[in-house]
Amino acid sequence: MVKKQYGNKFIGAHVSAAGGVDQAPLRAREIGANAFALFTKNQRQWVAKPLEASTISAFKANCKMLGYSSDQILPHDSYLINLGAPEEEKLEKSRAAFIDEMERCQQLGLTLLNFHPGSHLKKISEDECLAKIAESINLAHQAVPDVIAVIENTAGQGTNLGWRFEHLAQIIEQVEDKSRVGVCLDTCHTFAAGYDLTSFDACEVTFAEFDRVVGMQYLRAMHINDSKIALGGKVDRHDALGKGAIGWDCFEYISKDPRFDGIPLILETIEPDLWSQEINQMRQFHLQALAEIAE
Ligand SMILES: [Zn+2]
Ligand SMILES: [Zn+2]
Repeated sequence: MVKKQYGNKFIGAHVSAAGGVDQAPLRAREIGANAFALFTKNQRQWVAKPLEASTISAFKANCKMLGYSSDQILPHDSYLINLGAPEEEKLEKSRAAFIDEMERCQQLGLTLLNFHPGSHLKKISEDECLAKIAESINLAHQAVPDVIAVIENTAGQGTNLGWRFEHLAQIIEQVEDKSRVGVCLDTCHTFAAGYDLTSFDACEVTFAEFDRVVGMQYLRAMHINDSKIALGGKVDRHDALGKGAIGWDCFEYISKDPRFDGIPLILETIEPDLWSQEINQMRQFHLQALAEIAE
């Protein structure tokens, strides 16, 4: 029998950066997380003042003290950015804001930047929009070294692209530096987009499909959310784990499968009071898998 290689599981949540980004690792620690996500600026504003040198050093010091390395941290960009925007003015504004987000990551010593791909707003074709998104990534790569652009799959709400695995593949195909592009699969979005995750068998099929179309080597992070919406409902409504239409099997599967080791697994569930319990439950599943392997 081939022995699977098991590594660390990085499980956490999207924590608040209120009072400064340096506060985020402290909040992650409070809920027992060994990974976290954060916004490095107000996610509903276009422009933010640059990060203070003192904030940057406090962030780095807190991460070091609490043992968070850059592969356990998943910054998320602003919701306003549309890297596939049909109109030139909006596209320019989005690209500049995205480059600013990447620079902030670099200043903080972070290597992953999670973003929603973009929307065609019914003004351009899907192909044109996907090409614009890929070009936006190429421009950001030229402007900022090191940081990896991590494309999040979407629920397919409105005119958002990135809900089909083929969209993600089509973007990646047009990115020049493939070592600096990856994917964050959100379980709620995946399910709302029509990929079943409600049983171990369904998860096998869905992740095999992702591997076939995109490639598992591009998976750099996951968002761990249950869904209030039924399979294929194309609406993005997160739920607490086990309380929605997906159910615990999916989260047990991810916790136990070593293909999801060593990448941030980030809760964006709706009841922050439950985060420490949700993290703990996933850790228990991971420990079970390790125990089974040791037998
Ligand atoms: Zn998400
Ligand atoms: Zn969502």
